Amino acid sequence: MNLSDYKGILVFAEQRDGVLQNVGLELLGEATRLAKNLDTKVVTAVLLGDNIGGLTQQLIEHGADRVLVIDKPELKLYDTEAYAQVLAAVVNSEKPEIVLFGATTLGRDLAPRVSSRVTAGLTADCTKLEISEDKQLWMTRPAFGGNLMATIISPDHRPQMSTVRPGVMKKLPKEEGKTGEVIPFAVDLDTSKMKVKVLEVVKEEGHKVDISEAKILVSGGRGVGSKANFEVLENLANEIGATVSSSRAQVDAGNMPHDRQVGQTGKTVRPEIYFACGISGAIQHVAGMEESEYIIAINKDKYAPIFSVADLGIVGDLHKVLPILTEEIKKYKKSQEDASSYENILENTTAE
Ligand SMILES: Cc1cc2nc3c(=O)[nH]c(=O)nc-3n(C[C@H](O)[C@H](O)[C@H](O)COP(=O)(O)OP(=O)(O)OC[C@H]3O[C@@H](n4cnc5c(N)ncnc54)[C@H](O)[C@@H]3O)c2cc1C
Repeated sequence: MNLSDYKGILVFAEQRDGVLQNVGLELLGEATRLAKNLDTKVVTAVLLGDNIGGLTQQLIEHGADRVLVIDKPELKLYDTEAYAQVLAAVVNSEKPEIVLFGATTLGRDLAPRVSSRVTAGLTADCTKLEISEDKQLWMTRPAFGGNLMATIISPDHRPQMSTVRPGVMKKLPKEEGKTGEVIPFAVDLDTSKMKVKVLEVVKEEGHKVDISEAKILVSGGRGVGSKANFEVLENLANEIGATVSSSRAQVDAGNMPHDRQVGQTGKTVRPEIYFACGISGAIQHVAGMEESEYIIAINKDKYAPIFSVADLGIVGDLHKVLPILTEEIKKYKKSQEDASSYENILENTTAE
């Protein structure tokens, strides 16, 4: 294998029902940052689906220099074999030195298959990517239950492939009107190998919440106690337009669904405000929330490790602190409403 034949970075731009997933845009941001330290600075997005041409500009405005489009009715619904065939063909033809996938359910299914077809390794769930002085990709991920960070390299094979969870990397601000190349990529699918036929996709009933998209999270740990006790968190969340999430302790206890779990085996979140209520701050939890912009921890143990990552710490019983906080916020909102209606009266009186 001649390593120098491999150039540039390829990002899998996942879309579902014609909507680009945030993680693909985040990876384009990361790829643009990494490409600055590579000889070939080209970032290419790969977009698969049916009737998806309208999504290319969004990818360009978030960092892609080129977008390879594979637009086929067979790619309308995700099919592991079809998607793996297409991506392996793209990698073999494009020869990128790095390929990045989002560690979504789809990405986790697809990336290992593609890596094995193109005989490359794959580092899953990376939390940090860097280019070393000798232009290798350093792929860092938690190992041994999160107690150790392992940096993995792939010195003898190309491409260097990795998956990254949603919310870990930052997307670039949208560059309105940015131009880039849109290239239709032709692939002949071998349909005889497609053994699974998706007849229908049935969406899970009820409102599924994506905590990685929330701007404010009120998160509860074992200290909250029973499921009914989450009411104090819900009350605060309702008042400030937040979503309730939790530590694994509450998911294991059956009090919260897994899609609300923050942490290494849950979701990585980066909200503007993260309330950690009755959460001790175990390394596996902190790994999923430490990038939040402002962390408020409420814990009755002043030595709880969560306070070392918090911007604001309140030592106290959450069952006492949260209702007081919620009441104060209600009062503050009411006073703001009163003030603005008073201003309106003044304005109207003056106008008259
Ligand atoms: C491989 C692996 C993966 C893991 N993945 C995850 C993960 O993704 N997410 C995750 O969260 N964990 C994960 N864990 C589990 C993790 O190690 C911890 O066990 C877990 O995070 C503890 O949850 P907790 O902080 O809610 O509970 P605890 O550690 O029991 O802490 C409860 C806290 O509540 C405080 N408290 C109690 N009562 C009150 C009160 N009334 N008011 C205020 N404070 C109170 C206590 O002082 C304590 O600090 C993982 C573990 C392993 C081994």
